[in-house]
Amino acid sequence: MRFMPLKVEIDPSSGFCNGVVRAVGKAEDYLSSHSRLYSLGAIVHNSSELGRLKRKGLEIIDMDDFRSLHDDTVLIRAHGEPPSTYRTAEANGIRIIDCTCPVVLALQRKVREVCLRMEAEGGQVVIFGKRGHAEVNGLVGQTEGKAIVVGSPEEIEKIDFSRPVALFSQTTKDPEEYALLVREVRSRREDAEVYDTICRQVASRHKSLVSFAASHDVIVFVSGSESSNGKVLFDLCRSVNPRSIMVEEASGLRPGMFRDGDSVGVCGATSTPQWQLEAVADSITAISLFLVEC
Ligand code: SF4
Repeated sequence: MRFMPLKVEIDPSSGFCNGVVRAVGKAEDYLSSHSRLYSLGAIVHNSSELGRLKRKGLEIIDMDDFRSLHDDTVLIRAHGEPPSTYRTAEANGIRIIDCTCPVVLALQRKVREVCLRMEAEGGQVVIFGKRGHAEVNGLVGQTEGKAIVVGSPEEIEKIDFSRPVALFSQTTKDPEEYALLVREVRSRREDAEVYDTICRQVASRHKSLVSFAASHDVIVFVSGSESSNGKVLFDLCRSVNPRSIMVEEASGLRPGMFRDGDSVGVCGATSTPQWQLEAVADSITAISLFLVEC
């Protein structure tokens, strides 16, 4: 029996978020007239995109490298950095190309302001986020290390409910998980201050991704394994479509992943470039042609 061709669609709401578009654009602008630019941490959690930028002269450095630089130029990525990074830059004469996403910057300011008030009131700032994640480190830095980081609603016991609580979320966390944490916190401390700090782009992507994943037979989710947003969005796809597959790039695809006439949805994280979604969709079309001809 002849194999029916696959139908392939790219999710129109996938691709880089505004913060990543801006950071990558600034890096490329700079590299159009310079041979090298340092980025403090990976500008985007996607190895193919990092490879493309590396060929243009972008070099990823860590904090130890950063501290040893003098009179150089360094890009700060969309996740942002704690105040200590800017102090090091000033002391070492490092010029910063600051690509902190405006949404993250506004959140950092709010965390700083609320932390000062909480201190005066004997309260505490709680951040719902992934411990060690760059954005979370940047937020904790606004509180001089005093904020409590809670990675999941199960870690609620870290909070001292005898004292006032102000709760924030990392911008890329799952809105439903945050809502669950908020309910738990409010059940223990009714007057807890809760700030709605999940990025609007991320929150609306959650909603549209659910209907996209449910309307296809198979979902191919394209993301770097380091992307925390990628993990959250892939889990979301899998919760509505058990035939969801995560690949880092087109080479991760296999003919056995598809069945006769499947409709295949291709989507990705906020760190997945459009060109990579297109490359994966093209490879699925090539697999379809191969299977039809076999
Ligand atoms: S996910 Fe939202 S807050 Fe985070 S970098 Fe992208 S646009 Fe900015």
